[in-house]
Amino acid sequence: MALQASDSPRPGSRGAVLAAGPGLIIGPRPARVLVALADGTQHTLQRRLEALGADVRLLPSGADVLPAAREHLPDVILLELAPDGAGLATLAALQREPITHAVPVVALARNLDLDGRMAVLDAGAADCLARPCSLTELVARVRVILRAKAREDLLRRRVSFLEELAASDPLTSLLNRRAFLDRLHLEMGRAAITGEPLSLAILDIDGFKAVNDRFGHYVGDDALRQVARVLVERRADDDVVCRYGGEEFVWLLPGVDRDVLLDRLERLREMVAQAEVPTGEGALSISVSIGASTYAVDAHGRVSAHLLLASADAALLEAKHQGKNRVVFLDVGRAQDPEATDLPPEIPIDTGHDWRRAAFAGERGGGGPSATDALHLWDVWHDRAEARRDTLAVLHSSIKILTAALGARDAGTVAHCQRVASTAVAVAMEMGLAPDEVERIKLASLVHDIGKLMIPEAILQKPGTLTPAEWEVVRQHPERGAAMLQDAEPYRHLVDLILYHQESYDGTGYPDGLAGRDIPLGARIIRVADTFDAMTSDRPYRPRKTLEQAKAELREMAGRALDPNVVEALLRLLKTMAPLDVALTMRREDGHLEACDPVP
Ligand code: GH3
Ligand code: MG
Ligand code: MG
Repeated sequence: MALQASDSPRPGSRGAVLAAGPGLIIGPRPARVLVALADGTQHTLQRRLEALGADVRLLPSGADVLPAAREHLPDVILLELAPDGAGLATLAALQREPITHAVPVVALARNLDLDGRMAVLDAGAADCLARPCSLTELVARVRVILRAKAREDLLRRRVSFLEELAASDPLTSLLNRRAFLDRLHLEMGRAAITGEPLSLAILDIDGFKAVNDRFGHYVGDDALRQVARVLVERRADDDVVCRYGGEEFVWLLPGVDRDVLLDRLERLREMVAQAEVPTGEGALSISVSIGASTYAVDAHGRVSAHLLLASADAALLEAKHQGKNRVVFLDVGRAQDPEATDLPPEIPIDTGHDWRRAAFAGERGGGGPSATDALHLWDVWHDRAEARRDTLAVLHSSIKILTAALGARDAGTVAHCQRVASTAVAVAMEMGLAPDEVERIKLASLVHDIGKLMIPEAILQKPGTLTPAEWEVVRQHPERGAAMLQDAEPYRHLVDLILYHQESYDGTGYPDGLAGRDIPLGARIIRVADTFDAMTSDRPYRPRKTLEQAKAELREMAGRALDPNVVEALLRLLKTMAPLDVALTMRREDGHLEACDPVP
């Protein structure tokens, strides 16, 4: 017999102490234990666990664990590892499944030596016991694991509570501006790909300052809550509503066109006007002015989220000018878009020959995809969503291989690339770039110097000053890196950033001498992060600069070699944190995230 059911605790024994310890509970509820053991003593084990307060589900021998785990949502799984290896496959499947990947698994196996047990632990089991094993020990180990699970659950709940708190406005409980902007970027990207319209309205309470002045801030706060309440009542499931600023709210309506939007806004305006805010002097009526705009890729091409907001804001101003308490709609105009040239190419364009032009066709080709293209884009988007996870995992692991190749020639370069990536990510986030673009900048930073693989070692490692001819070779690394990656589909979206990471804001850089906004924003960010890292690292011919010296030099270079806005963002960050505080994560082949190696 494998489990020794006979070793039930004897009074006064160590087993009795363990069994008499705290019950098997997670917070206020019984711990759920799923038992999938090929053993005749399952029922004894069940009784022992239930006596300790657990909710136990026994699986018949050979039953599929995964569906039972999905249904039962256990806190711990006791899993038999059969000699045919089926148990290991189940373990791997449990880890892949999002619902079960955090559930600890205690594995039991016959004929397993120490190496075998280590392999099971490496495969992700929380614990591994060799049969025959004592039932008392098994219960004790389950208890230890459940204690850790309870702590982990509590932490997870606190983190999600804090995340919610960080994303919401305390007065109205609506999303706050920062969380809203994340959603807006996401919805803009989606609308650009699906071709569906995206509408946005900004509401501003009329004469609100006077309300505060006359009735006090408490009444003012009540009025803000009333507007929030009406918005929540009127919004559809897919809509996003947020408190954008003091007495301004934004309503984002995915899939809603201009006509439907105007109907909905008119109704909203009426409902706000009908709402009553109680005051010491009776009920107070308030009104809102509303500015609105609708984005459609067919009509506007690819534009930034900023432009949609700016268009609605201009409409709001017009509504105030026209006498308040009304809705004004303004069309989105691409020409006004200050960030238009900074948009990343969303869909990789396959031309085969002029790859440099191809890398930019999405952002510089003017006009967006036509109506017929939209259908095609939808298919592409659909396939891409499916393939995205796999591609990302492969991309991340191949980037590791590339950097390892670079590291084999010059170890310092890998650490440099990681530091540049950390800084660039921090700056991109500080500048409010969309999450996808931040990810693109991170990956491009990690491989920005990959072209150095093509530079002869004698030049790369030369301790003294380079000759002009040698400099010429070094200066080719952006082009060589871009040429290396442009043929590999998963990297193509990084090519423009690698090619232009040595361009200068004032047009004095290389390889093409681009200036200002003609340089992709991501490349301008990498340039600043790269320069900052060079300043703050020791070089064979000079020691590193102090942080204060580096900051002064950055200020000096702002508007010349470096984009002043990017420099400003980095200087803002440096006031409160070291950029390296941003932890980089990479996706493993199995899709899980792991931290990058620490930056030396
Ligand atoms: P207009 O009709 O042109 O919009 O004028 P207004 O008075 O509404 O606009 P203005 O921007 O001059 O005033 C906005 C006021 O909103 C100023 C500020 O005191 C008030 N405010 C901002 N946040 C809050 C808040 O959280 N609670 C309260 N009670 N008032 C706030
Ligand atoms: Mg205002
Ligand atoms: Mg106002």
